[in-house]
Amino acid sequence: MTSLPANPGAKRLGLVIDLDTCVGCHACAVHCKEWNSGGIAGPLTDLDPYDTEPDGVWFNRVHSFEVGEGAAGRTVHFPRSCLHCAEPACVTVCPTGASYKRAEDGIVLVNEALCIGCKLCSWACPYGAREFDGNEGVMKKCTLCIDRIYNETLDPADRVPACVATCPVSARHFGDLGDPQSEVSRLVAERGGYDLMPELGYAPTNKYLPPRRRCDTAIAAELPDAAPAGGFLGWLDRLLSG
Ligand code: SF4
Ligand code: SF4
Repeated sequence: MTSLPANPGAKRLGLVIDLDTCVGCHACAVHCKEWNSGGIAGPLTDLDPYDTEPDGVWFNRVHSFEVGEGAAGRTVHFPRSCLHCAEPACVTVCPTGASYKRAEDGIVLVNEALCIGCKLCSWACPYGAREFDGNEGVMKKCTLCIDRIYNETLDPADRVPACVATCPVSARHFGDLGDPQSEVSRLVAERGGYDLMPELGYAPTNKYLPPRRRCDTAIAAELPDAAPAGGFLGWLDRLLSG
């Protein structure tokens, strides 16, 4: 089994994803795949890409749901990738040390040279964020584009994960969620940013910003609010738990 860092630093790099503005275009998922196929984790395989049931390795997937009925209904797009948890059982179950969490910034990575493809980590991840590469026989996952964010040959504006760089509606934000004064932390505080399934104790670093209530007051009255227990985010948790 693999240990977490004994003395983790205060820095916790991660994403804040705005479910209010995401339009479900999949640009983030496609750029993620393109960048990572040529970067640190490449290649990312595709299985039957042009058949009726295409499958393959995608670090970022976007799921779209209809929430509510009739005029009160709305479509919510939910991008899903590794949340770089503070207490990730995907790391502690790993029998070889292939999965590990970096002390200096909290990023959770896989050392593919040590991975034996046992898939224990994917069973331990409640968010479905691990991706097994059947071609290479190793587990892969979102690296937070570690080969971009520290890459001094890139323009500083491009030193963000590919998904963040490409989102056409700026629904994705990257930064240090361990710093309460960072832009991402302030955004979370202002908009009621939310941990997915906090009751599991994984303490995900990534946060989601809930969809705002609609300004049409007649329709807004019928919509669930964003409170985790009974509102939209509670619904999302139940969906992930199913
Ligand atoms: Fe591990 Fe899953 Fe958390 Fe990512 S989201 S750190 S794969 S438990
Ligand atoms: Fe949503 Fe942005 Fe991803 Fe498009 S690129 S699916 S808008 S998060």
